[in-house]
Amino acid sequence: MTYTITLIPGDGIGPEVTEAAKRVLEATGVAFHWDLAYAGAGAQDLYGTPLPDYVLESIRKNKVAFKGPVTTPVGSGFRSVNVALRKKLDLYACLRPCKTYPGAPSLFKDVDIVVVRENTEDLYSGIEFEEGSPEAVRLLELIAETTGNAVREDSGFSLKVISRTASRRIVRFAFEYARTHGRKKVTAVHKANIMKFSDGLFLAIAREVAKDYPDIKFDDIIVDTLCMQLVRRPQQFDVLVLPNLYGDIISELCAGLVGGLGVAPGANIGDDLAIFEPTHGSAPKYMEQNKVNPMAMILSGVMMLRYLGEAETADRVEKAVAQVIAEGKNVTYDMKPNVPNARVVSTSQVADAVIEKLEELSHATQRN
Ligand code: NAD
Repeated sequence: MTYTITLIPGDGIGPEVTEAAKRVLEATGVAFHWDLAYAGAGAQDLYGTPLPDYVLESIRKNKVAFKGPVTTPVGSGFRSVNVALRKKLDLYACLRPCKTYPGAPSLFKDVDIVVVRENTEDLYSGIEFEEGSPEAVRLLELIAETTGNAVREDSGFSLKVISRTASRRIVRFAFEYARTHGRKKVTAVHKANIMKFSDGLFLAIAREVAKDYPDIKFDDIIVDTLCMQLVRRPQQFDVLVLPNLYGDIISELCAGLVGGLGVAPGANIGDDLAIFEPTHGSAPKYMEQNKVNPMAMILSGVMMLRYLGEAETADRVEKAVAQVIAEGKNVTYDMKPNVPNARVVSTSQVADAVIEKLEELSHATQRN
């Protein structure tokens, strides 16, 4: 069968890493039809908007998208293509596995953490009131009236919104993921000691949902304690489930634990739609240099293959990437092994090396 996938190259380094990963996926023998869709800087020039409607329609039709990173213009009217995509398509779960592959530049061994980040609310609600605006003044009055607290008049506001509904579905997603992927423990991350009505609600719901999964261990941890524990002994963690902002920060921290953004894949998943994209952004300073690491994008492709039910092919691509990392001869600058005469190669050469390994692995399977 042929899978029709919406392909969003993105901007900055997006087109380079997307092309490299696409070549790897095509070399697996699984058939893809790519439905090309432009979002980000290129779309802005072509259509006058960074997120044209046809991109959303394509994803709704094909159900699965493979996406490169997109730059968020600072201070423009448009907040973020990425946030808009997740919200408009209700891709409520952001899945970011962080795993050490032997040979990757990491201080740790045997880290295998899956970050499950809530994608639709929290401080990303987009509800903000500018300092001095009439709305901010009204809010100051409401706060004074209802709580008796005097907030400084020159304050701006960003609203942290945590709902029972979104908390329940993300925690349920984390437990279902744990159950279907042979994971043993889910840890809910929060700051409920301070934010009783937002993080407190998240924690209460997590505890409630955990009761439906007696086969999976459950515990919780305060986000600052988690940071300290992660940099000391990350191997103790399995699946982490977090509200949006902590999820964003902790997934980058976990990427750093396993070798950096160059090897950190991701997915944004809803009830019947999914976008696979790396954790990293568009790194504009490296654009068009054929220099950055395509592995995060390739590993996002591995996640996509698993989602499509192509588990055996997914395992083979992951193994090929792991072998390229372990050999250290065909890796980009960010993965340079700490050995004399180590060589770094370009984005496209990494893809070539992974494809070569894939072919070797296929021949080995045929011989057995
Ligand atoms: P970034 O992830 O783009 O880059 C930060 C640094 O990480 C780079 O300078 C580079 O040193 C390293 N890096 C990133 N990807 C790499 C790779 N594949 N190989 C090797 N090194 C890599 O973060 P940023 O500079 O904060 O963001 C740039 C833009 O990307 C911003 O506009 C941001 O909003 C956007 N962004 C988009 C997404 C997305 O599309 N999903 C995600 C994060 C950031």
